Amino acid sequence: MGLTFELTDVQVEQVNKWLEEHPCPVREHVERTRRLPAAGERMRFVFIPTFLGMLAGVECACGARLMLTDDL
Ligand SMILES: [Zn+2]
Repeated sequence: MGLTFELTDVQVEQVNKWLEEHPCPVREHVERTRRLPAAGERMRFVFIPTFLGMLAGVECACGARLMLTDDL
């Protein structure tokens, strides 16, 4: 197997922006308690195979999902 995936700078920016901006109960909880979880606890990457190839997305701990595209 050995599927690798690298985010472009644009996608990293997209992810960080989305983490801050989507309506997120997890983030609200963090802001209330001031407990900052590591990024790895808060999000994970998901890969969805389609006929166009592999789509990459990121899923927040709250369940929200952002699909990443490189055609911005
Ligand atoms: Zn969230």
